[in-house]
Amino acid sequence: MSPRKAPERTIDRWGTTEIPPGTAREVKITLSETYFGVDSKIPVVIWRGEEPGPSVFVSAAVHGDEINGTGAIRQLIADKPFKVHRGALVLVPVVNRLGFERHERYLPDRRDLNRCFPGSASGSLAARLAHAVFREVVPRCDFGIDLHTAALRRTNFPNVRADMDDPKVAQLATAFGAELIVHGKGPVGSFRRAACKAGCPTIILEAGEVWKVEPTVLEYAIRGVTNVLSNLGMIDAPATPPAYHLVADKTRWVRASRGGFLRFHVAPGDIIERGDLIATNTSLTGKEFNTLKAPCDGIILGMTTIPTVAPGDPVCHLAYASDGSLSKAAKGHAAAGPETLHERTRGDLSTGLTVVPSDDL
Ligand SMILES: [Zn+2]
Repeated sequence: MSPRKAPERTIDRWGTTEIPPGTAREVKITLSETYFGVDSKIPVVIWRGEEPGPSVFVSAAVHGDEINGTGAIRQLIADKPFKVHRGALVLVPVVNRLGFERHERYLPDRRDLNRCFPGSASGSLAARLAHAVFREVVPRCDFGIDLHTAALRRTNFPNVRADMDDPKVAQLATAFGAELIVHGKGPVGSFRRAACKAGCPTIILEAGEVWKVEPTVLEYAIRGVTNVLSNLGMIDAPATPPAYHLVADKTRWVRASRGGFLRFHVAPGDIIERGDLIATNTSLTGKEFNTLKAPCDGIILGMTTIPTVAPGDPVCHLAYASDGSLSKAAKGHAAAGPETLHERTRGDLSTGLTVVPSDDL
């Protein structure tokens, strides 16, 4: 007897739902069961063009508290800012429903879903959840974009993370049109790394904070998705180029050397030089303990949002390119007008931080 063949997963059929060319449908993926024994499902919206073309998934909230991407996908579904003519767009607003419902990054079993892909049907709760999503979405898609934010108590200047050694991933990352791309394969077990390995080139966007839908981050995510679909010829809309383009292959955390209360002198997205002041560490009454200086040239990729620090606490995350291409980015950065999305995003991300220019000290 020949082994039973697993059903082939194609873009035109999801379970019993058919998606003919030129239609849009919402389907549900069963993830797990609640403690009441009821199916726990997530919605997936598929927009299929009339003509053949690539299929692209956009997912969010793999970490349940990272909902900027959920807001962006909801906005896309509500506004329909473009029409998919070729191929298909697969929208997954929340992957980690169990974390999302608890406002938490992790699952109830305390595992990180984004270290459990591609998952397995007989593994832990997290492994089964990962498997349920992965097997339904990834085989049906040619490309993927997974939307994330910084972890708790931090914010990220929007940056795409991508394995730039893979030409298809590099094309996707460049097409997204983020100013900053951070090169790397991603952690073992992450959705994007497992999807890439399964033949579906995938990137992530890291932008903003947990528990928020930030207006410019949302705009940034939608601009990126639109740019990708435009580049792949799926929609008839022009791509919007970034203010500059920097591929960073190195990142480095600047950590507090002493405990205290920080005054920040930099904001997310700033380009700084070695020796620039990052923060002044003071007592609660303002007595200066020490200053933190940039150990190298770089762009502020991420920052803590909490000014209270103990020795070793992360203060800011610097990205830089080992080929020294930062100066070109700095020119584009300086030329970006105040109305550009780049500058508006920088402005928005810094409103939650008290930033004192170092020359005002
Ligand atoms: Zn995340």
